[in-house]
Amino acid sequence: MGEHNNPVPVVAIVVAAGSGSRLGAAVPKALVPVAGVPLVTRVIERLAAGGVGEVIVVVPAAEREAFVEVLASAPVPVVWVDGGAERQDSVANGLAALPDLDEADAEGQVVLVHDAARAFVPAEVVARVIEAVRAGADAVVPAVPVSDTVRELTDTGSVVVDRARLRAVQTPQGFRRGLLEDAHAALYETRMTVTDDAAAAEYIGCDVVLVEGSRDAFKVTDPFDLVVAEAIAARGEPA
Ligand code: C5P
Repeated sequence: MGEHNNPVPVVAIVVAAGSGSRLGAAVPKALVPVAGVPLVTRVIERLAAGGVGEVIVVVPAAEREAFVEVLASAPVPVVWVDGGAERQDSVANGLAALPDLDEADAEGQVVLVHDAARAFVPAEVVARVIEAVRAGADAVVPAVPVSDTVRELTDTGSVVVDRARLRAVQTPQGFRRGLLEDAHAALYETRMTVTDDAAAAEYIGCDVVLVEGSRDAFKVTDPFDLVVAEAIAARGEPA
């Protein structure tokens, strides 16, 4: 990487272009307020506190104005991008909007991909992911143990899975920019679909490194989750 007075900022692509219909709200999920503060505002504050210097927010095209209005004053620069049909397409649109840098800087820039719905991700989880990418990991994923016993369905019934070996995967997931761009290009070439970016990186042969996630980084999906979200907002930062 070149010498810089201003180090290349860490960029986060925040995907918020899902319908969020399971929440049953009248507005897109990321605009739903929890204790008066919209989820997307919370996300950007937490990413910035964890070391992110720029954010690309991928939103439903028809709702862009509403998002811009809600996020009139963010702690870091925000770029708005329209979403695609699947999450993977939304991430690709975000990647296309990354800042122009010289080749070496672009290759090594730390890029995070984060679900807007994980609005309560602690800043220290964000910082941990960035640190692991800087330390040389290809693909970094925050993960938490699974507390339920899980059974896997088979053709004839179901089998129990060893819970001690399971981890639930969260975001933000972190990558060097060049690697994530290569991974997405490979998916498009072969028309493969994946549900997260670590799987995209794995598809081009990268190792995935797990770091400690947080229960706070859960994905706000349905009305029950809003009850939990309100409780976390009332509690404040984790101890
Ligand atoms: O649908 P799922 O819960 O996996 O979505 C995860 C995240 O991806 C959400 O934050 C959602 O807004 C985003 N998403 C998107 N574009 C899509 C589908 C999902 O940005 N087409």
